[in-house]
Amino acid sequence: MGVSIKYAEFFCQAKSRCISIEVLNNNLNEYYNDMFCPYCYKAKLYFVKVAKTPHLRTKPSSQHSKDCIRYYEPVLSRNIKKISKILTKKQINNELHSTMNHLLKLGHNKNKDSTTLAEKTFLSTKSKSVNSKKQTRKVLKTKSLNRKFTQLHDGKIYKFYGKVKLSVYENIKREEDKYYYLNILTKQGQIFGIRRNKKDMLDENGKYNLVFIGWAYARENSSSIKVRLLGEMAILYIKMNGEA
Ligand SMILES: [Zn+2]
Repeated sequence: MGVSIKYAEFFCQAKSRCISIEVLNNNLNEYYNDMFCPYCYKAKLYFVKVAKTPHLRTKPSSQHSKDCIRYYEPVLSRNIKKISKILTKKQINNELHSTMNHLLKLGHNKNKDSTTLAEKTFLSTKSKSVNSKKQTRKVLKTKSLNRKFTQLHDGKIYKFYGKVKLSVYENIKREEDKYYYLNILTKQGQIFGIRRNKKDMLDENGKYNLVFIGWAYARENSSSIKVRLLGEMAILYIKMNGEA
């Protein structure tokens, strides 16, 4: 699965407006060379003609503008394929829960700072799968959300964790492409935004223990750090009881 980079519409320069794929289907010759990303109008798209779900994709040679919400996706989908081979859903789930258990334990022990975990955890993958010859041992780095996110961490995969505040932002600019952002406010005052297809039901006044696996990107034109999860399920949060 991973990140879908399909488009159901495109921006047409000649008409300077967005056009849906239904229109394109019957007039491919007219638009063939005039199909751009509907968000940044910059990246060129191409038509993928499959009977059931015809769609558009970004041309491999083409770039989205840096502040486009689709900017990182071509890179990510390749990454996801690679990392998905190493991490199964079950392993992701185990990773999330073991870190969460750790956070919860630390939360009970008032003498310890719950934002401090070991810098690295070793994820041992006993590959029962196709390539069982080698026992691959991969490192999934951990990153506290309450330590400043810098360029050093930009675009790298981490298991992020920490005690944070959460809120939901609903994007309704496009009714046909409605989505949400799960916003994470850290102690450092940094905001991480995770794009979600479903609305997270939260207590926005509460504090949460949060763990997720994914990539984060600080962008010049944005106050928040954008996050791509390693799959929709690569996130776990539990509300804390009372104040801590
Ligand atoms: Zn774009």
